[in-house]
Amino acid sequence: MAAVERQQWDVVVVGAGGAGLRAAIEARERGARTAVICKSLFGKAHTVMAEGGIAAAMANANPHDTWQVHFRDTMRGGKFLNQWRMAELHAQEAPDRVWELETWGALFDRTKDGRISQRNFGGHEYPRLAHVGDRTGLELIRTLQQKIVALQQEDHRETGDYESRLKVFQECTVTRILKDGDRVGGVFGYVRESGRFFVLEAPAVVIATGGIGKSFKVTSNSWEYTGDGHALALLAGAPLLNMEFVQFHPTGMVWPPSVKGILVTESVRGDGGVLRNSDGKRFMFDYIPDVFKEKYAETEEEADRWYDDPDDNRRPPELLPRDEVARAINSEVKEGRGSPHGGVFLDVSTRMPAEVIKRRLPSMYHQFKELADVDITAEAMEVGPTCHYVMGGIAVDSDTAAARGVPGLFAAGEVAGGMHGSNRLGGNSLSDLLVFGRRAGGYAAEYAAAATRVPVAEEQVDSAAAEALRPFSAEGLEPDAGPPENPYTLHQELQQTMNDLVGIIRRAPEMEQALEKLAELRTRARRAGVEGHRQFNPGWHLALDLRNMLLVSECVARAALERTESRGGHTREDFPSMDRAWRSVNLLCRLTDPTGGLAATDPVRGQIDLVRETTEPIRPDLLALFEKEELVKYLADEELYE
Ligand code: FAD
Repeated sequence: MAAVERQQWDVVVVGAGGAGLRAAIEARERGARTAVICKSLFGKAHTVMAEGGIAAAMANANPHDTWQVHFRDTMRGGKFLNQWRMAELHAQEAPDRVWELETWGALFDRTKDGRISQRNFGGHEYPRLAHVGDRTGLELIRTLQQKIVALQQEDHRETGDYESRLKVFQECTVTRILKDGDRVGGVFGYVRESGRFFVLEAPAVVIATGGIGKSFKVTSNSWEYTGDGHALALLAGAPLLNMEFVQFHPTGMVWPPSVKGILVTESVRGDGGVLRNSDGKRFMFDYIPDVFKEKYAETEEEADRWYDDPDDNRRPPELLPRDEVARAINSEVKEGRGSPHGGVFLDVSTRMPAEVIKRRLPSMYHQFKELADVDITAEAMEVGPTCHYVMGGIAVDSDTAAARGVPGLFAAGEVAGGMHGSNRLGGNSLSDLLVFGRRAGGYAAEYAAAATRVPVAEEQVDSAAAEALRPFSAEGLEPDAGPPENPYTLHQELQQTMNDLVGIIRRAPEMEQALEKLAELRTRARRAGVEGHRQFNPGWHLALDLRNMLLVSECVARAALERTESRGGHTREDFPSMDRAWRSVNLLCRLTDPTGGLAATDPVRGQIDLVRETTEPIRPDLLALFEKEELVKYLADEELYE
């Protein structure tokens, strides 16, 4: 095998979205020489697509808002399965992270008296989302990028080299975390343009690769969301937590087919948009679950009054947490009250003047005009659920973001599990990225400073290179096993399987069928073959991504089959209720070798094992923030007693 170029860094951050960039800034500011790697162009991460805003209890729009209220809303949204310490840190630190962004140059929309404006979103008791129109993620990434450039200029002044302490490797894909014994030793990857391999050695690696949506057919996620970081952690020996919880956002576009799944931001409902069925009925009033009954309006009149007088009226049910709204839409369509293209109607045109719609929701206006030829100032949108976000992820320590079981590995952002429990509230991702990106970067730098360094063994690099090159020699592999497989066909079959059998409403026989199909695909994917060369070869890239999507999908399906209740993003038709006994159960997936050999790092021979774990009891002072009557709905008797 030809020698692979190696570089040495203190901290390597995989991913340049909000979490990765915030981690990199922190690591560099704490003195660590930091490399950031991203699959796409610098500045093009998924975070850019975030529209509605960033949730933080700054109390600008309602003086009653506090971190305690935000914590409560987050726990309720996650149906109390959240890693409560993460939810606490998140609620406490989010305002500082937003203010910090402003000091770094972010330009948020303002209130009339000049403060950062905050808008309503589902599940948040008060208007809490700081925003920049409906392009908040773009501004967040722009600001973090600008901060990175500022740090590089500072480094240039001191060392004569812009990249001496902070370097971005763009359009590079990491395919393996390298190890030094049990500890992290660095990463192996390839440059997408040239196909050249590289190794960055580092004692600390932060995974910040985002989500998994590209395993599903209808999704709001971009091509980058192939679950790479989840799989990298699994292959490196770290467990994944509660992977059954996948969020189906209630409002994706449903027409035309080429844009099916593209997100329609929740801000549309936050700013007054309402959902109607084909009879013209505002149906969400029929779907308020018991646990939320006291907090949501019972009549249209009360719901409409709430927009002007939130203190004396209850919220419209269109602003229930996403899992509730997605299920309601699904039911309406199933009952035959859907829109012509299989969704329901989302209307702002009768609720706001055209110029207000264009000002507050400019991207939505253009999105519908250009992609669907619909003028949302004059007619209703057609919307339906779309796979949007994964709550499950790498199991991490709440304070330090250290991945469990692999010293030197850290995770932040959508790839990390725990923070959102069984369902994420809108706006809580952008704040999560900043709060835990900063923590991951800081603790990774601290860890790296104390770590001893050993060069990664040549055999590991050779084996990572051989694995990456495998699709070019699929023809010669296992000649009896059949012809090479087309990666695009495998991907389509995977997406269809996950969509149809492990989607928004789940049933045991279908998930068992999905697991059989996934096992078949895992074997066939070993023969995923590509032609041509290594220079920008998308078929090859997909063949490598398939390994990740298949591993992660199996975790989702196994955990979903195991959890015999409905909670948050996980809805079982055969177990339709939330079961208090499951509140204290986490499901952890690991890749293991049943024979005790080396297959635990092998994506084909390794086996996904599922382990039940009892959650840590919620700290009493945090429990005291809730009324006992409410806790009874979620917590088992023994938890209440304790
Ligand atoms: P990302 O921003 O996705 O970054 C991941 C990075 O990892 C990228 O740089 C990618 O190139 C890199 N990467 C991935 N795999 C590899 C690999 N193998 N090697 C190297 N690099 C790799 N949340 C909110 O809070 N508010 C909102 O208003 C909101 N709106 C949204 C709108 C849309 C349309 C969508 C899809 C999501 C929205 N979300 C919102 C969710 C939120 O945007 C995401 O959860 C969040 O941006 C994820 O950030 P991240 O830093 O974890 O990952």
